[in-house]
Amino acid sequence: MSIWVRIEGQKQLATPNLVAGDTVYGEKLVKLNNEEYRVWDAFRSKLAAALRNGLTIDTIRNGTKVLYLGASTGTTVSHVSDIVGPGGLVFAVESASRVARELLENVAKKRKNVVPILGDARKPEMYFSIFGKVDVVYSDVAQQDQTDIAIQNCQIYLKTGGSIFLIVKSRSIDVVADPKLVIRNQIRKLEASGFSTKQVIGLEPYDIDHAIIRGTYD
Ligand code: SAM
Repeated sequence: MSIWVRIEGQKQLATPNLVAGDTVYGEKLVKLNNEEYRVWDAFRSKLAAALRNGLTIDTIRNGTKVLYLGASTGTTVSHVSDIVGPGGLVFAVESASRVARELLENVAKKRKNVVPILGDARKPEMYFSIFGKVDVVYSDVAQQDQTDIAIQNCQIYLKTGGSIFLIVKSRSIDVVADPKLVIRNQIRKLEASGFSTKQVIGLEPYDIDHAIIRGTYD
């Protein structure tokens, strides 16, 4: 499946819609080769921004099991759900009940491959509905201890050889430090915990002071 499509002569990101006719955040629907796609907005989703800047996501594909930390209302979760398809699963963890309600109503109720978890990603042992190990941990919690949170979840749920996608919001970690230094420190932390770094991608111009680190859990 390609997530790069040509719409009105322009190369764009879009995912095949798992729920025909349904939109999640007002995104455009387009018909391509008899299949409906949802245009993926890089200004609304950091994963789309990272893809536009060269991120590889070949470990997220049809049938993949993903643990997603910081699901919010489900904007990015919904595109990941399209990509992993009916044979995949997205365990979507969110701690704020107001946005979790939207995640439940707008995304999880309509998409059978999204399992919402209203919970604190700092307490992964308390998740009530996750089973087995996952292929991918995706983390976007924008907290000062965001890297530790992701590592802790990987240690419990990520299978050996699995992938981590860690969104680093450098200002959440240190408001004054040079973002490049903050990112370098997060890479060091990951590598000290058994990950190898595969890609580091900045998210500008879509998001400032953000980067994504892709790694594998060896
Ligand atoms: N990933 C989302 C997207 O692309 O659509 C945006 C995520 S937003 C930057 C960060 C989210 O993480 C917020 O919804 C926040 O409530 C959630 N969050 C923060 N700390 C958390 C924690 N300890 N456990 C679970 N969710 C948390």
